[in-house]
Amino acid sequence: MSDCHGGTVQRLDVDQCGEEDECLVPLSPVLLDASGVPVIPVPAPECRTPGTEEMKIGENLNQRGREQHRVTVRAIGKVVGDKWEANGNYSTGIHAQEDGDKHGKKRKLVTVDTSKAKTSLEGVKISVRMLKWKEIPSGRRAPCDIYWHGVSFHDSENITSGQVNKFPGMLEMSRKINLSRAVRIMEELFPVEYDFYPRSWILPDEYQQFSAQLRMVKECDDTFNPTFIVKPDSGSQGEGIYLIRDPAELKPAPATAAGAQARQAVVQEYIGKPLLVDKLKFDIRLYVLLKSLEPLEIYIAKEGLTRFCTEPYQEPSQKNLGQVFMHLTNYSLNVHSGNFVHSESQSTGSKRTLSSVLRRLAAKGVDVKRVWSDIIALVIKTVVAVVPQLKVYYQADIPPGKPGPSCFQILGFDILLMKNLKPILLEVNANPSMRIEHEQEVSPGVFECVPSPVDEEVKVAVIRDTLRLVDPRLKRASSCQRRSAGGEEEAGDGQVRKHPDGVPSPCLKQVYPKYSRQFNYLRLVERIAALFVRFLGVKGNMRLGPTAFRTFIRNCKLSSSNFTMASVDILYIDIARRWSGSLPDSREAGMGLPAFVEAFLYLAARRFKTQTPRQQAASLLDLCEAQLESPTSGPEERRSLSCGRAASRGGAGAPKPHLQQPGQAPPSPAAVPPARRASSQDCRRAKARSREARVEN
Ligand code: ADP
Repeated sequence: MSDCHGGTVQRLDVDQCGEEDECLVPLSPVLLDASGVPVIPVPAPECRTPGTEEMKIGENLNQRGREQHRVTVRAIGKVVGDKWEANGNYSTGIHAQEDGDKHGKKRKLVTVDTSKAKTSLEGVKISVRMLKWKEIPSGRRAPCDIYWHGVSFHDSENITSGQVNKFPGMLEMSRKINLSRAVRIMEELFPVEYDFYPRSWILPDEYQQFSAQLRMVKECDDTFNPTFIVKPDSGSQGEGIYLIRDPAELKPAPATAAGAQARQAVVQEYIGKPLLVDKLKFDIRLYVLLKSLEPLEIYIAKEGLTRFCTEPYQEPSQKNLGQVFMHLTNYSLNVHSGNFVHSESQSTGSKRTLSSVLRRLAAKGVDVKRVWSDIIALVIKTVVAVVPQLKVYYQADIPPGKPGPSCFQILGFDILLMKNLKPILLEVNANPSMRIEHEQEVSPGVFECVPSPVDEEVKVAVIRDTLRLVDPRLKRASSCQRRSAGGEEEAGDGQVRKHPDGVPSPCLKQVYPKYSRQFNYLRLVERIAALFVRFLGVKGNMRLGPTAFRTFIRNCKLSSSNFTMASVDILYIDIARRWSGSLPDSREAGMGLPAFVEAFLYLAARRFKTQTPRQQAASLLDLCEAQLESPTSGPEERRSLSCGRAASRGGAGAPKPHLQQPGQAPPSPAAVPPARRASSQDCRRAKARSREARVEN
């Protein structure tokens, strides 16, 4: 059997592996080449055999797509009608608004509103054409099936049905500080599993801890001279990033009109020994589809991009710290280097396909299957870390019972491979660039937008497969007991093997729930978030007021003579105040999810002293859930359905009292300010304010 890389392949049934954890692979079955090296298959439509392709790598798919007649896309071999052929061919064309099925019946085309698609527009257009769906380029009054929006969920106001390609709160969760916090909570509970994120401190809040820890480590070993990378919280594309070796080198944050949050930054351990290819540092851009929060569904694109530095790498030294082309892999920076090479093929230049790099590594004997398995684990664990807060945002924007769209989102994971092949998470992009062209200087001083074959290759496949996976006809079909709707079939593992248009789904592979057995135990914070949401009370609220917190304690029977309700109030005030300055919606008072998680873990540590943090959290969750299931919990909880949150209007500048330690005597109840119940009007106003405050980038 011959694969599209010209090698002989044999099939390995991964389920035959002994240990499941080690058998995590993106593909089942795995292809091996003649020498037994696992091949990361390039998605079938992208496979090319020299001399047989109808569209060459340098050719612009967009231009072809724009032509108003039938086009053949990425085909190897001949086209028969509009059918996908076994060798990976398919053709498409510009179609009328309705399509006929094989019985000649008119079938309503899936509609995609692209009026706000921004830079992803070209990629979406091509994908919609490939699927023979209908693009609504200027938006329309009648509801569409799918809305493809360029920035955030909040361009989506007034959409009450269909599906939109953004989750509420995703932009906030992908900010460097929020991601660091979410991963840190998980690290506290699962230190072994969450070791893929560089040690990070949040500035300015944790400056003291950062410098004290560094001093301590250096005192123990004076030859130890680590490097750190400083990244502004709201930055992107390498903007404002610099390397330091001493806290004294931290630059004062520039004052901005946007206020304190804009001045926040993350200082992070710098990974000084990355894996190099051609002596250059590179990182991986992996596309991940979060298809649904409930149930959790995650897909990973088999094909991604690698972005290369443009100066040969040297380990950081005082002399080279400022050399961005050596240390930062951002395309937006390196494109300005004289050494930048626009890639003419998948495997050369400053931006290459992931599969081409993995093939090179495999040829050198690297266990690529293992690398993929680690990358999948990293992705699932990261999503598990951010899902609890996303669920809080989701219920606030689209409360159960309120008409609204369902959401899905493509995320860009930036991953660095260390020299020892361990993948490290650098960041998650809520709005990864889906641009398929780049600017090029065609003559001195004259710039033109030209197609980028590598981008087009990877991104169109991701967009097209995403659309295919959220096809509303599949939803309808699965709700009708997976009855076939026009010929598609959904495999038992959730992969769409064959689409109504006969096109296989070669790019996105499901990893969750596929690997849920290995990762479900990590979803503890989601259970804490479910408790939090249960006690929020008022629809649209994201903060727990003091009354609701008390009700949580009472209903779960967590107070005692050792831990009175007065201590509960103190605990609430202490934690809510400390968090009030550090959250995106800081003008809204009350306890957000991270603060509630902190309180919960404190209560767990207090009650189950001898256990590990993870066992403590699990034990307290079991206890709370059991109490809430008991019939006596009802009336008390109903009384709490208001969003009282006035008691904690401490603000960012308020003093930060220390949290009472487990077993320590509770502080005096006199410190508790009187609580006021906020009206539902207060809640609406606070929500509107928080929306205004959300910055889109
Ligand atoms: P931005 O959003 O500005 O692109 P990133 O977190 O992606 O910020 O960092 C930019 C680049 O800096 C990355 O692409 C990578 O090359 C490098 N980088 C970031 N964090 C680290 C780290 N901890 N160790 C080594 N290199 C890093």
